[in-house]
Amino acid sequence: MKILVTGGAGYIGSHTCVALLEHGWDVVAVDNLLNSSRESIKRVERITGGRIHFYQIDILNKPALANIFRQHKIDAVIHFAGLKAVGESVEIPFQYYHNNITGTLILLDVMKENNVRHLVFSSSATVYGDPDRLPIQEDSRLCATNPYGRTKLFIEEILKDIHSSDNSWNFALLRYFNPVGAHETGQIGEDPLGPPNNLLPYIAQVAVGRMPHLNIFGNDYDTPDGTGIRDYIHVVDLADGHLKALSKIFTNPGIAVYNLGSGRGHSVMEMLHAFEKACEKKIPFKIAPRRPGDVASCYADPSKAEKELGWKALKSIDDMCKDTWNWQRINPNGYK
Ligand code: NAD
Ligand code: UDP
Repeated sequence: MKILVTGGAGYIGSHTCVALLEHGWDVVAVDNLLNSSRESIKRVERITGGRIHFYQIDILNKPALANIFRQHKIDAVIHFAGLKAVGESVEIPFQYYHNNITGTLILLDVMKENNVRHLVFSSSATVYGDPDRLPIQEDSRLCATNPYGRTKLFIEEILKDIHSSDNSWNFALLRYFNPVGAHETGQIGEDPLGPPNNLLPYIAQVAVGRMPHLNIFGNDYDTPDGTGIRDYIHVVDLADGHLKALSKIFTNPGIAVYNLGSGRGHSVMEMLHAFEKACEKKIPFKIAPRRPGDVASCYADPSKAEKELGWKALKSIDDMCKDTWNWQRINPNGYK
């Protein structure tokens, strides 16, 4: 099988390329490198001893994308390419809608022209907004609260409409909870541009001395220690979920939505302490005001993925912190 991975140089894309190559599949990756580095592709090749057919292109560039489908007989697509910063999406919504939604429409158009009908799409738990019940099941109320989340929600709706009109399409919509961690070799990991928005990369940069302290956004939530609770999922487990989802849409066609989370919630304080254990240092922190738009608690019911995909998260928060620290320690400035 030959798999096209859009956004293949990015954080989750690069880990998924490792899993695909280790599974023995051919990988074609495209990325405009807006939020990533070509170095990640080289390192994936080094880890696996395999080869990626890599193209630095923008998926908005239809002729360039079509050319790749002419050069390679693609069997299926895993679609990671997108902009993903919630705060930035509020500042520049047009770019988010254009890049994420138009980009997906162009990809679908090229797939259709080449009769490629299998797609795994990166959605997000952000489509649940402030969840109406916990743990969150796939049929919970959907309610995105920012432009980034709405791009995910709208793309999900677009894929559902396309499938309803033509059931030769096969889609797996994967709603990730909080991806963290890095490959156990420490060769690839999350390398945010500028100050990290997310908790674990921020803690890691404090631990390595790039940031003075962590700001904990609120300790007065209705949670056992007052800090926010999330469902952290190791990126290597997440990558494996994509292989399982691909197998599912080939053996059991159609459209299906899955939560990819561990099913366990951990507070900011718990993550901080787990990281301190991993890096054997104290992480300085300050209590700061709540971050606008944050919810108190969010964690998945991942039982549908376990039942239908045979997938579940295996790695613990200690693994997540150990691997994040290993990556950050070996690469204090990321890929640079
Ligand atoms: P990432 O930014 O590391 O990877 C996305 C990649 O897509 C980047 O390498 C970027 O350069 C590329 N890209 C963006 N627009 C492109 C375009 N028009 N053409 C070609 N390449 C383009 O992000 P990630 O964390 O690996 O996330 C992958 C996907 O998963 C995204 O769609 C994201 O929205 C989704 N997701 C991520 C998280 C998370 O917390 N990391 C959570 C839920 C969902
Ligand atoms: N958080 C924090 N300080 C930071 C980044 C995040 O206290 O610098 C908290 C945030 O309020 C939330 C949790 O950590 O409770 C996870 O935040 P992240 O941005 O990683 O994920 P999301 O909120 O998008 O699920």
